Amino acid sequence: MAVDIAGRIAAIKKEKNALLFAHTYTRPEVQDSADLVGDSFELARRAAEEKASIIVLAGVRFMGETAAILAPDKKVLLPVYEAGCPLADMIAPSDILRLRKEHPSAAVVCYVNSSVEVKAISDVCVTSSSAVRIVRNLPEEEIIFVPDRNLGSWVSEQIPEKRFVFHRGFCPVHQQVTPEQVRAAKERFPDAVVLMHPECTPETRREADYILSTGGMAALVKEKKHRCYLVVTEQGIIHTLRRHDPGAEFFELTAPTLYCQNMKKITLESIAQALSEEEPTVAVPDQIAAKARRALERMLELNR
Ligand code: SF4
Repeated sequence: MAVDIAGRIAAIKKEKNALLFAHTYTRPEVQDSADLVGDSFELARRAAEEKASIIVLAGVRFMGETAAILAPDKKVLLPVYEAGCPLADMIAPSDILRLRKEHPSAAVVCYVNSSVEVKAISDVCVTSSSAVRIVRNLPEEEIIFVPDRNLGSWVSEQIPEKRFVFHRGFCPVHQQVTPEQVRAAKERFPDAVVLMHPECTPETRREADYILSTGGMAALVKEKKHRCYLVVTEQGIIHTLRRHDPGAEFFELTAPTLYCQNMKKITLESIAQALSEEEPTVAVPDQIAAKARRALERMLELNR
């Protein structure tokens, strides 16, 4: 059945000059059908560069919006429009306006996991793989980092010479992990090196050997320096990592299981339907898209 749908997806992609981009947290079969599997930064950058007429973004809504803003010449399809990101919903534009008033000389740095309205009034966007480099490259000494307080605190630890103000947002998938749970898993898998996403809390991050974005995890595994990993981020990435080093061993936390329900809403069936109907398309009003594009393009420039 999955093979039939995958074949149908491949045929429609060819007929319509479409590309399928999938985030590393999506289902294994979705990743296997994709032309590109990557983190938010890679998906955003390639959406702008590719020559396709249609891009199907297998990911949550802010990823589709980001692709549509950076690639206005392409039709961007989001197979499950209601698949959102709870972290992105934890901040409103009014929060940024208030923070700007309180810290008038600070730069507003907004994690890409945010709405277009929030991006439109931010100075620059970042992803977890680009945040440290971009914040370091900013001339401002004070940084308002929104919406993820955990990623923000991790960035601040790398750049102690700047002052940071955080919003209170967090990713519910990563926030739930405790140091005790990681220690228990380390006891079960004593040979494993611990890869952890910076969206985990500062206390939990102390248990990690490497704190990396999903793109950073993929790059490390490709080096084949280690043979055994405990992966502390959304479990979909294990499929991606196994493809990069099939001989290595990968373990995940089982208590709790790190599972993003929104990412898992995207199925092969929803992708095939989106491709054949060319719906739902991501439409961002021009005026707001232009403002959000400035923050996203600055992200691409400052990451060089
Ligand atoms: S894993 Fe967390 S940050 Fe990523 S989409 Fe799911 S809820 Fe949002």
